[in-house]
Amino acid sequence: MFEMKKLNFGTNALEPYMSARTFEFHYGKHYKTYLDKLNELISGSDYENMGLEEIIKVSYSKGDKAVYNNAAQVWNHEFFWNSMSAKGGVEPASDLLNKIVASFGSYDNFKKEFKQKALGQFGSGWCWVVEKDGKLSIVATSNADNPISLDLGKALVCIDVWEHAYYLDYQNRRADFIDSWLAHLLKW
Ligand code: MN
Repeated sequence: MFEMKKLNFGTNALEPYMSARTFEFHYGKHYKTYLDKLNELISGSDYENMGLEEIIKVSYSKGDKAVYNNAAQVWNHEFFWNSMSAKGGVEPASDLLNKIVASFGSYDNFKKEFKQKALGQFGSGWCWVVEKDGKLSIVATSNADNPISLDLGKALVCIDVWEHAYYLDYQNRRADFIDSWLAHLLKW
């Protein structure tokens, strides 16, 4: 049985860039529903004793869509919670900053490219910074897809661009949400 990941910040900690109301719905309803559904689906199955990442890989390769979607969404949301902080939006420490500059030219250019990819994701999905063979890249994925199932490398940070992540605060203005998130919430 998987349990909800405890947060090291309060539901209002990310205001005004992400409201307590958005966060409470997102964490307490959307994320919880994926988790409850996953527990229900794996109960008594071969998946019951696997770790979350293994469930994602196995269910993806077997085409077990319900298990895959819920397991991946649990993992994605936990990764997203961990990609944010009330004191976010600042450049990372030098080792990682050097890699970002080597991969994207500058931190400002990284933000520009990340915004373009996150904005360009048609419909629901995610945008990730991944590291593979020492090189960083930005990848957008649809629905529940993530770097584990698609074998994109090690995920460093992600943003949720499903509408439920921003609609209460930004309505249809995904670009404003991404700008705010990059400037104030992104935690490396
Ligand atoms: Mn979400």
